[in-house]
Amino acid sequence: MKTKLLSFFVLATGLLLFTSFTNSKNSSVKPFVVVLDAGHGGHDSGNVGNGYKEKEIALNIVLQIGAILEKDPNIKVIYTRKSDVFIDLWERGAIANRADADLFVSVHCNAHHSQASGTETFVLGLHANERNLEVAKKENEVIFLEENYKENYTGYDPNAPESFIGLTLMQEEYLDQSIMLASLIQNNFTNKLKRKDRSVKQAGFIVLHQTYMPSVLIETGFLTNNSEGAYLNSKKGQSEMAISIAEGILTYYKNIALGTPKAKNPVITQQEIDKAIETTEEKIYKDVTFKVQLAASSKKIDTKASNFKGLKDISRDKEDGLFKYYYGETSDYHKIELMKAFAREKGYSSCYVVAFKDGKKVKLSEVLNSEDK
Ligand SMILES: [Zn+2]
Repeated sequence: MKTKLLSFFVLATGLLLFTSFTNSKNSSVKPFVVVLDAGHGGHDSGNVGNGYKEKEIALNIVLQIGAILEKDPNIKVIYTRKSDVFIDLWERGAIANRADADLFVSVHCNAHHSQASGTETFVLGLHANERNLEVAKKENEVIFLEENYKENYTGYDPNAPESFIGLTLMQEEYLDQSIMLASLIQNNFTNKLKRKDRSVKQAGFIVLHQTYMPSVLIETGFLTNNSEGAYLNSKKGQSEMAISIAEGILTYYKNIALGTPKAKNPVITQQEIDKAIETTEEKIYKDVTFKVQLAASSKKIDTKASNFKGLKDISRDKEDGLFKYYYGETSDYHKIELMKAFAREKGYSSCYVVAFKDGKKVKLSEVLNSEDK
């Protein structure tokens, strides 16, 4: 009975959504709001590797992303800045929150004392490594140019950005969607533009910490690298980066708007899932196996993909008289989080990650706390 009620509910919600999309020309329908944030500006020039200016390049790219997105009448674009002005990090997030935006996308350029190169896209996360912290610190430094940063960022220790993350975890709720968007953008850079892939990463960026919606920060490449710097400073480079980012946002939008209620034809393909998993930075917990728990049932169901909305790599366990169905099996926590995000997109909206040690289920929080730096 319960399942019948549930399927009725799903059907009703689907129909409701369908009707609202078919009426999308009606002005009462809320547009999909994207906030585009060009890093730095005004007296904060960002990095100036090789003499190229991060604040100018970021703005050029952002304006072009906006122009592409604005062609879709259902998308509303809001810019944190459209000219060379200084806006503090706190205000950037506030702009997005006031607009009740659906996405926040911040665009930057990287710098390093070596000839390092490549693109990386960040989501706010707890599992930052040394190098990620370094990037976050650099992008966070701007708060020292802000007059009352002590009031605006209570409790923030600039020397330990990771300590800040524990204070409030608004972004945690949107992590799945943020990782999804980050993967789509990063995949475009790698597959379409053949840029060097530094993958989707997590770190403690203040600007991401302030927002109440899925948010990513894109490092489009290193100005300090001789050829990448020249590419990012060129018209061609900026336009190609903008197209890749805009297409990532549009795929995400289509997926959220059209894919969710009827997950039979998800916009994201298995190939894209595999690629995203492959390009995500590893976070290995030795002797631990993670799986995504999709469902529990008294019924024994064959684990073939067609029974699980196309998801492959399904396993089944019997526990307390119930059959548990899992997706994936890995010691890599980042990979399993990504797999969870995709399972949710396919319609398993309440699936979650479980951990096993020596074949026994253990508390996920204990696993994550034990080895975390
Ligand atoms: Zn920057």
